[in-house]
Amino acid sequence: MTEPSAKKPGKQPAKIVLTSHPGGHGPKPIPIKWGVRDPMKRGPAIATVTNMAQRNVIGTHSGSYSVYRALAVAAGALDPLRRPDLTNTSPSKAIGPHPQWFDAQQIVSLDPFGAVVADVFKSYLDRSYDIRPTIAVTSAHIRLPEIDDAIDAGRLACDGKILRAGRDVVVTKAAIEPVWYLPEIANRFNCTETVLRRTLFEHTAGMFPDLVTRPDLSVFLPPIGGLTIYMFGPVDNIADAAKKLAVRVHDECNGSDVFGSDICTCRPYLAHGIEECIRTAQAGGAGVIVYNRKEGRALGEVTKFLVYNARKRQEGGDSAAQYFARTECVAGVQDMRFQELMPDALHWLGITRIDRFVSMSNMKYDAIVRSGIKVVDRVPIPDELIPADARVEMEAKMAAGYFTPDGATATDEELARVQGRKLGD
Ligand SMILES: [Zn+2]
Repeated sequence: MTEPSAKKPGKQPAKIVLTSHPGGHGPKPIPIKWGVRDPMKRGPAIATVTNMAQRNVIGTHSGSYSVYRALAVAAGALDPLRRPDLTNTSPSKAIGPHPQWFDAQQIVSLDPFGAVVADVFKSYLDRSYDIRPTIAVTSAHIRLPEIDDAIDAGRLACDGKILRAGRDVVVTKAAIEPVWYLPEIANRFNCTETVLRRTLFEHTAGMFPDLVTRPDLSVFLPPIGGLTIYMFGPVDNIADAAKKLAVRVHDECNGSDVFGSDICTCRPYLAHGIEECIRTAQAGGAGVIVYNRKEGRALGEVTKFLVYNARKRQEGGDSAAQYFARTECVAGVQDMRFQELMPDALHWLGITRIDRFVSMSNMKYDAIVRSGIKVVDRVPIPDELIPADARVEMEAKMAAGYFTPDGATATDEELARVQGRKLGD
């Protein structure tokens, strides 16, 4: 294997090396045998751009932030050959290994060893391989006004451990960057690997030629957002089938989650999920919130705001009956989240059963159950937590077959009557 470049720090190669050019890559890289139990036999995923000969994946680290790293290099602020100093960065709590880690079909969109590369691939690191974590685990306290409300209303009580006297909540959290094993990603989406590679190549305007020129590389680090897991209660309880578990899988909604926009139920649902997680952890179990960076049903916020305008300006005003149609007009589809990859994070945590699943989405429920996780109870959001302007969304979703405890759906006439505010009101 080639040793790291002897070039001086701060110097980039003088000529552009196309990864697709014959001989543009080095000697045969370390193979990745996805799903193999022994990490040294599985092989590290090496996505460095400091030494092209070491690379054994397509794409690079940090998801969409890799572009900012390129900007930092272009601006002269970052040495392109710099490698991270990982001293003291190991996980605050150990997660796994779990049996699901060693099933090539159960986890296909993240690297189960992503948090522990400094340990399990130490011998490679000692030989100057540039291997970087794709998962980081840390501990924190969080504070939410909705949890204050739950305490004031008597629904939650401070226990001094999970919910502290100061009303802050103790959590363990994990940030995960996507690492895709392409053969099984293709399987999940019912297409061939060839079609998947070619489509990814073409629809990123040829951003990653390796997708089509390097069939020997099966792992791709896509330039997209990852996910964050918030864990409540002892981490060991999460995979323990004898302990109760509450889970909410939440897809990012910046407008509601952060800014409190009242057109949807995202933040109320997230806060309700956190409340359920705390309650279950306090009862001796654990809670898990998975927060996916899939803004606006993975259509992005520009599309989302265009849809809001189209909804509010349409003839007859914003109505539950037209809720999905307006999205389809702008985006071509109602939803691009495709929950097929979502259960991977739950399998990484070793989850086999969810006692309280805080969601009304059948897409999420179906994906989780199909992946082999048992769901005992589905927990809808209490009516009093739904903002008035979000009634349009709620009624439309319920009519579209989202889960309701009593199976009730509104008639077309009733749907047309559920109206949101006009634009600018
Ligand atoms: Zn929302």
